[in-house]
Amino acid sequence: KGERLRLPPWLKTEIPIGKNYNKLKNTLRELNLHTVCEEARCPNIGECWGGGEYATATATIMLMGDTCTRGCRFCSVKTARKPPPLDPDEPYNTAKAIAAWGLDYVVLTSVDRDDIADGGAEHFAKTVSNLKERNSNILVECLTPDFRGDLLAVEKIALSGLDVYAHNVETVRQLQRHVRDPRANIDQSLSVLRHAKAVNPSVLTKTSIMLGLGETDEQIHATLKELRDSGVDCLTLGQYMQPTKRHLKVEEYVTPEKFAYWEKVGNEMGFVYTASGPLVRSSYKAGEFFLKNLIE
Ligand code: SF4
Ligand code: SF4
Repeated sequence: KGERLRLPPWLKTEIPIGKNYNKLKNTLRELNLHTVCEEARCPNIGECWGGGEYATATATIMLMGDTCTRGCRFCSVKTARKPPPLDPDEPYNTAKAIAAWGLDYVVLTSVDRDDIADGGAEHFAKTVSNLKERNSNILVECLTPDFRGDLLAVEKIALSGLDVYAHNVETVRQLQRHVRDPRANIDQSLSVLRHAKAVNPSVLTKTSIMLGLGETDEQIHATLKELRDSGVDCLTLGQYMQPTKRHLKVEEYVTPEKFAYWEKVGNEMGFVYTASGPLVRSSYKAGEFFLKNLIE
């Protein structure tokens, strides 16, 4: 106990860089956009920004500032009870910058803003509608907070014109209290995902689970089943990585073979797609997966 696990070889590999990477990187500076891809030093940036066979590029943009009102035990985002107020021009300016950037698929995400009446739902929705007005071809995914179960907030976003509604359950049912902020729980998260689909059946719903936090195979199976029963369409599974010493320890480095097994399980359960691998993150090549599975 107390010993940190050694990093396995499959997490040290070099990731290929796709052809659009440099173009996106060079144009980003002028646009004043804050990408999670760069700020979190995501190892997948070469692949996501570089694009693949179907999508030219996927990137993730953070809205509503860099300070969260919650403190999940796996997450290194700064926390405060009262972060600075929202920038009212952000939905317009961000949409303008993204539309000019040349992406096929954008993920809009945010910190949790429990200090704001609607949790920032209106702000999110405005960003989507501004963006779609400028560029109706861009595919938009919103990766949202749980809004403390406020279904009106969920509805605002589900009806904003987006293509994919994502909200992460993060871990299996049994580890929710251990891993997430106490204000979050899986039933609340499932109700968010169910409601998004209920008010807009044409939207795809999506969630993500981190492995390596001490969950058992049975618990993973049961959680995937619950997600399917709630009508969740897309699933991603990735390795939990400890961001600093103050955060939860990695209990296990799950092997690539085991991740492939979960991908097979997800496909058999009927998810539209399951992306599963050690470096997979919720937004990993999201545009590529979306387009591939819509076309096939
Ligand atoms: Fe991090 Fe999201 Fe939890 Fe905030 S709510 S601490 S941003 S995971
Ligand atoms: Fe950006 Fe997400 Fe891809 Fe990482 S996985 S590079 S954060 S889009």
